[in-house]
Amino acid sequence: MQTIETVSAFRTARVALKGRVGAVFTMGALHEGHLSLIQLAKASCDHVVGSVFVNPTQFGPREDFTGYPRDLDGDLRAFETAGVDLVFAPHPEIMYPPHFQTYIEVGEVSHALEGSRRRGFFRGVATVVLKLLNITQPDLAYFGQKDAQQVAVVKAMVRDFNLEVDIKVAPIVREEGGIALSSRNRYLSASERKGALVLYQGLQAASDAYEQGERSPKVLRRTVLKALIQDPYIDVDYVSAADVATMDELHEVTDQPMLLSLAARVGKTRLIDNVILPRSLENIDDLSKILGGE
Ligand code: AMP
Repeated sequence: MQTIETVSAFRTARVALKGRVGAVFTMGALHEGHLSLIQLAKASCDHVVGSVFVNPTQFGPREDFTGYPRDLDGDLRAFETAGVDLVFAPHPEIMYPPHFQTYIEVGEVSHALEGSRRRGFFRGVATVVLKLLNITQPDLAYFGQKDAQQVAVVKAMVRDFNLEVDIKVAPIVREEGGIALSSRNRYLSASERKGALVLYQGLQAASDAYEQGERSPKVLRRTVLKALIQDPYIDVDYVSAADVATMDELHEVTDQPMLLSLAARVGKTRLIDNVILPRSLENIDDLSKILGGE
């Protein structure tokens, strides 16, 4: 495996990779969720390229850019063991040199949910993803359902800019007990980790209600919320039932697939999680089609 810090060196190494190339972009502090994307890429591609870059332009001034968990040596070992061919791990000055001034303006799919809570977040995400796609030139790029709205934003950009890449979407990898794996879980104390269990329990309670035939977005949202407010240490940011393609909030009873998502603070750590209803759609083929639309 080669680890490369500059764009020109990456381009040179990339040219040597023949056949289908899959890409997995990360902010590092790798966990089994990231590794599942690599495994899926390896299953369908001849080569896999990865990246580690904590992207400053997607963090707000009061967010955790400086303290974001960083473990490049551990990440490179994990990438190597997973069978990645090339890793792009640039310094911020390589991605954003002096006089950098061009950003992606993201549209309506970015306005609700995370976009409404984190100003400029998706502008930063779309900009860095476009740069990473241009630098790594993959045939397929793998993203996680965990960041469902990010998938919708990236897919809209790929369509709108006629990018030649196939976006694949992988289901969420969870710990035993249900907590969605996240690099930010490293911030949680033992008692906060226990508290965080309630996030997935809420989503699970709503999935169970859905299985029993409940189709009212309002009732499903309320079911999640009821579980969350039982824990006084959970500070709920939002609970949403949205259209899987547009991210528009749903209000009417519907049989269309739903993205049931939430954001909440557990102590100082802000966590997000979601399920797709019906849960049978949580597989790479269906998710790649429905999340963010085709
Ligand atoms: P991040 O390093 O958090 O930017 O995540 C890099 C990629 O891994 C994104 O496409 C995420 O959606 C995906 N990812 C993060 N957590 C998980 C998880 N628990 N299961 C599957 N994919 C994940």
